[in-house]
Amino acid sequence: MVSREVQAHDTVVRFGNAAIGGDKFAVIAGPCSVESEAQLLSVAEVVKQHGAVALRGGAYKPRTSPYDFQGMGVEGLKLLKQANEQLGLPTVSEVMEVSQVDTMCEYVDCLQIGARNMQNYALLKAVGESRKPVLLKRGLSATIEELLLAAEYIYDAGNPNIILCERGIRTYETATRNTLDLNAVAYLKQRTHLPVVVDPSHGTGVRELVIPLSRAAAAVGADGIIVESHLNPCEALSDGHQALTGPMFEQLMQELKPFVEAA
Ligand code: PEP
Ligand code: MN
Repeated sequence: MVSREVQAHDTVVRFGNAAIGGDKFAVIAGPCSVESEAQLLSVAEVVKQHGAVALRGGAYKPRTSPYDFQGMGVEGLKLLKQANEQLGLPTVSEVMEVSQVDTMCEYVDCLQIGARNMQNYALLKAVGESRKPVLLKRGLSATIEELLLAAEYIYDAGNPNIILCERGIRTYETATRNTLDLNAVAYLKQRTHLPVVVDPSHGTGVRELVIPLSRAAAAVGADGIIVESHLNPCEALSDGHQALTGPMFEQLMQELKPFVEAA
């Protein structure tokens, strides 16, 4: 169902005022984790001011170590809702378990399926039944075919509002956190009508590489990017090393202007 052979025209996924897919290059931005009211609202204001169409922020965090910050949970979801009401930015946040789906739907506008859950079929079916827009990240070692079949699970459960996300894959390379597979973006744009966004933050794991890879994502034909930003990355509770500072986010948006403003 997600194939271009079934539907030739591009799917545009809408939530709040955001439209992902179609003519405009969309920028979704915000912190890796929701940490506090002050942290979330201050970064949300900055990304909104410079043209982000949606706010990201994790309340449930899939951390490699059980001793690392696991997210604020429902309190984080409430802060996302507050940011949405105060700033009018729709929100994207990761759902990790089937039991969280209903609550998440009350508080956020788009459900993120993280890389580690791309093949959690029970979760894919549950978000499919929810009908909320879904941002589906490619698994750490998933093939493009497996990503498309994961999307098929969501579609088949009744939800056509799916955004695919290339977020880097595991390779032998260790200089960067992951290897951002831009081949996948060009390939997916031919194979499927679903919108495709790139996550250069997790794709590189290095703040200084996020702007160049964002430009590359736009050039290769992605429908947008999802990037991590934090006004004080040294203090971030997760992924601070890959978060864009406020001034860097402003620079990113300057450099993407021709794509963001394209008619
Ligand atoms: C995230 O977006 O913060 C995240 C955990 O992403 P991924 O699932 O791609 O690792
Ligand atoms: Mn992160």
